Formats: sequence, C-alpha cells, structure tokens
Amino acid sequence: MKIVTTVQEVRQQVAEWRKQGLTVGLVPTMGYLHEGHASLIDRSVSENDRTVVSDFVNPMQFGPTEDLQTYPRDIDHDAALVEAHGGDLIFHPEPSEMYHEGFSSFVDMTVLTQELCGLSRPVHFRGVCTVVTKLFNIVQPDAAYFGKKDAQQLAVIRHMVDDLNMNLRIVGCPIVREADGLAKSSRNTYLSAEERQAALVLSQSIRLGSDMVHNGTTDCAAIISAMQEHINTQPLAKIDYVKIVDAATMQPIPTLDRPALCAIAVYIGKTRLIDNFFTEDV
Ligand code: AMP
Repeated sequence: MKIVTTVQEVRQQVAEWRKQGLTVGLVPTMGYLHEGHASLIDRSVSENDRTVVSDFVNPMQFGPTEDLQTYPRDIDHDAALVEAHGGDLIFHPEPSEMYHEGFSSFVDMTVLTQELCGLSRPVHFRGVCTVVTKLFNIVQPDAAYFGKKDAQQLAVIRHMVDDLNMNLRIVGCPIVREADGLAKSSRNTYLSAEERQAALVLSQSIRLGSDMVHNGTTDCAAIISAMQEHINTQPLAKIDYVKIVDAATMQPIPTLDRPALCAIAVYIGKTRLIDNFFTEDV
C-alpha cells in the first residue's frame, strides 16, 4: 500500500495498472476512517483488481461557519485501515495540489441540491461535485463507491454522472452503524458522553419511521410528525429537517407512491448529524 500526494503520482500508478489490464475502484473520503469507510473499501476490493482511496478534507464543500479547521484528521490511522482492508493506494493531497492559484472552474447542480442538506449548506454540493469530478478525472476509475449514509450526496453524484456522461459505475453501499444504532461518522468524535447518548434519537427515529413504512403507512406527513415528536423528546436535539423525498429527484412527496428517501438532520449540541432510510431497503 502506497501513499501519494500529487496528481502526477496517482496518474503514473494508475497508468501502470491499466497497462497490465487491471480494473480500478475509487473510494473518495475525507479521512479519519472508520468501519463505514472500510465497508466501501471492502466492496471496491471485492469488485476491482486495485483500489484507490482518496483522503482529502475538501475545503470547497465547507461553508464559512462550518468545521473545516476542526475536522478530525489522522493519516497514520487511515493508512493502517486502508492497508488492513486491502486498498492499494491512498491519494492524500494538500489543498494547493487540488486547487492551484487561479482555480476558477466548478461543477454545480440545480434542483437536487436545493432540498435537504442543500438548504442549510448552500455551497456544500458545489464543492462535492467539483472535487468528485476532479477525483474521477485524476483516477479515471471503473467504479466509485459511496455510502448511503450521505444519501443526497449519492443521488447528486449519480445524477451528475448521468447528466455529464461520465464513464464509470457508481455503487451505493449500506449505512454502517455502531452496536447501539448510531450511524458511524467522523463527526461523532465531537460528541461528549452525554451528547453521544442523546444522539441515539436519530437512529431511533429512523427505526420508528422505517417500521411505519414496513407496516404499510404511506402518508408522509404522519411518518414525519411521528419522527419529529420522538426527536423532540430529547432536550439536546434540535431538528434541522425531517423530510421524505423522491429518491431520484430529492423533491418532497406527500405519499409513498414511488421509491423514496426519508432523511433527517439534527443538531446534538453544536454537532450536526444526519441519518436516513430508503423505502426500497425497508
Ligand atoms: P466522508 O469521509 O464522511 O466524506 O465519507 C466518505 C464516504 O464514506 C462517503 O461516501 C460516505 O457516505 C461514506 N460513509 C461515511 N460514513 C458511513 C457509514 N456509517 N456507513 C457507510 N458509508 C459511510
């Protein structure tokens, strides 16, 4: 397993693999890797001859008041995890390698990004689409692996790949959770012991909503209000949104008459956490 920091080194390595006729999978991450990331690496390793993991806290996807400076980083830990899971290359660039002086091109998207996290994080998806496009161009993988944990991101990327005729497969992987249900996230490290306990309202309300769907409820307002009511029992929790949207377009729907995504964002203290379920997985 190798760690490289420049675009040129990635290109050289991938070119060597391509000469040997090998397939390449890409797992884009912001590092501080956990079992959720590991599940994407495992999937890529099982489906490709070689796996590249990008490990880059992308400044462009953080708003001015967000946690860019404090976002956790630990490249040694990440390298050990990637190696243990059979990854072949980590791309760990400095921001200046990705965004040289004078950088002025962006990939942006309408409609899908104007709901859910796009409302409270207005520059987020432009940053995600731009960096993911760059990573696709740098690595030119056969397939790229994303978690359903960031469900809107997955929908946005699928849409971008389709709109812009990008030549790769996008694979969505299930949410990996802690034993008590909390979705694994690098941001969970921000939580105090009391907040960590309070954060269970997210997965509990997801369970509540998915049970309602499982039992045949199709009225989105009823599902949303039951979930909101549960979250509001926790004094440390403040709801950003609880929504049910069309799984492809991310537009709110009143009735479960098509594949849908139920997504929530909740502040626990100062930490904003997300969770969700797709009705197709219920
Ligand atoms: P991040 O480093 O948080 O940007 O995440 C990198 C990738 O890992 C994204 O595709 C995430 O959706 C995915 N991911 C993060 N947490 C989880 C999780 N708990 N389960 C599955 N995938 C995850």
